Amino acid sequence: MSVMQPSPVSPATGTRLRCRGWRQEAILRMLENTVYNGERPQDLIIYAASGQAARDWPSFHAIVETLRDLSDDETLVVQSGKPVARFRTHPFSPRVLIANTNLVGNHANWETFFDLRDRGLISYGQYTAGAWQYIGQQGIVQTTYETFTAVAHRHFGGSLRGRLVVTAGLGGMGGAQPLSIKLHGAVALVVEHDGAKIDKRIASGYLDCRAADLDEARALAESALAERRGLSIGLAGNAADLLPRVLRSGLRPDVVTDQTSAHDMRDGYVASGLTDDEIATLRREDPRRYEELAYATVARHVEAMVAAQDAGAVVFEYGNAIRAQAARAGYERAGDFDGFVKAYIRPSFCVGKGPCRWIALSGDPEDIRTIDDAILEIFADDPTITGWIEVARDAIPHQGLPARSSWFRYGQRLRFGLLVNELVRTGAVSAPVTMTRDHLDTGAVAQPTRETEGMLDGSDAVADWPILNALLNASGGAELVAVHQGGGSGMGGTISAGVTLVIDGTDACAEKLRRVLTTDPGIGVIRHADAGYEEALAVVETSDLTPVLLGTAGLARR
Ligand code: NAD
Repeated sequence: MSVMQPSPVSPATGTRLRCRGWRQEAILRMLENTVYNGERPQDLIIYAASGQAARDWPSFHAIVETLRDLSDDETLVVQSGKPVARFRTHPFSPRVLIANTNLVGNHANWETFFDLRDRGLISYGQYTAGAWQYIGQQGIVQTTYETFTAVAHRHFGGSLRGRLVVTAGLGGMGGAQPLSIKLHGAVALVVEHDGAKIDKRIASGYLDCRAADLDEARALAESALAERRGLSIGLAGNAADLLPRVLRSGLRPDVVTDQTSAHDMRDGYVASGLTDDEIATLRREDPRRYEELAYATVARHVEAMVAAQDAGAVVFEYGNAIRAQAARAGYERAGDFDGFVKAYIRPSFCVGKGPCRWIALSGDPEDIRTIDDAILEIFADDPTITGWIEVARDAIPHQGLPARSSWFRYGQRLRFGLLVNELVRTGAVSAPVTMTRDHLDTGAVAQPTRETEGMLDGSDAVADWPILNALLNASGGAELVAVHQGGGSGMGGTISAGVTLVIDGTDACAEKLRRVLTTDPGIGVIRHADAGYEEALAVVETSDLTPVLLGTAGLARR
């Protein structure tokens, strides 16, 4: 069991500036908040096994010092977690540009990455870790909630009440699963190797209880299912060992998925049959042997997921490349279930809809409440937004700087941004607010095992789109733009882009929002329209977007 250590860094709050302006101060607070919420803050490890906020502590401190001194017409450049230079640019350009973990195609593999990392030349930025946008489980909880909403509608007549969901992984992202599932009135049974993670999620309010063993877990699940009561249960152990036992125990899962860090077979996924000391020693001294054992484990794990599907459960991969890893390990039926984006999320991406987040830089939860109230009024015409805000305001505990997330589509993002700008301008919100989003978004990522799996035109592996997304958002003047490789599926698996905006209540900010909150979701709509999705083409036809040539037929739609 790991030992949780308090963070050596915490985000500043209030209205006193340590930097030359709010744009720099906001980015500094986002960096501090990312580390504060991280899984191993003392090592700058934020989530997904080894996703880092900065290359090392000297890099972290140099970033902090530079942000404190950065002018409104300078841009700080960060190469895989190390601040390398500041350039004179102009007031409307980004204050920070980041490139993380990018490797030339033929070299984008773990061997090369580990070698470069050992020589201090690169770090793993994952998605929001290396782009300083991580807000703990607050950030991912709605994405998980939305996924299970789609599962409920597709397979269970619109409700998961009285249903059993079995999954694994209670880390930085996976830790949002139990609360999201419980909010649907379902029972979540979550297997986690590390008992300390189970306790951490209970302490933060994202998990209800910990079962001593499978028998107790089964009894707890059965009584909650009988009463049609939502409940989340943590169970310590290895998923590859416990999932087959769950299936034999008489429990009949309705849904099975997984969020162990299977994308990383060395530092992430846990091989079964070893003590923690043996795991640490093997990872350090004989990593190839460790990976052999991890691959053997993951093959059994996915075999059990397929067995659950054969027994009637709805099974999907939850963005951790577990099918590809099991296939590498030689398991032949690894492709028998789909990934969650292809199965449930693609229609949202087609209309430019994705997970937006906003963070109260004041540190005052009242600012989030004020924005909640304004959203309920302004978006009264969209029950998917108001319904979520009603749920979230009561059920989602804050972590670090108070934050909220909601999925907004093309057009709604700009409405939201301008709304917040007005609230800051009038003083209804006590300090500027940052707006950001997951890299998992409509136009910000190419990941053939996840966001771009099974694209209509077969363009799954085309990574021009996230690059264009980043270039556009930088051109529009977002405060921070990042381009990452590796993300959720590991080396060679993905290219993605992150963006952060600082909403400070000024007219210049309103102009910036009009640009970036059009380009950011707009390129997502265009990407899906180009692939031939009718929902995206309909948005193009009815919006202010200006396509030139879409689709392989080269036809402009208007
Ligand atoms: P993390 O490293 O913080 O946590 C992973 C957890 O899985 C750890 O607590 C670890 O102890 C546990 N674990 C590993 N192997 C196990 C096994 N065999 N049995 C039981 N427990 C095991 O990672 P995270 O940030 O929670 O991300 C998890 C995965 O989800 C990653 O692969 C990540 O890329 C992916 N991810 C998914 C989404 C999404 O939207 N679905 C978003 C981001 C990341």
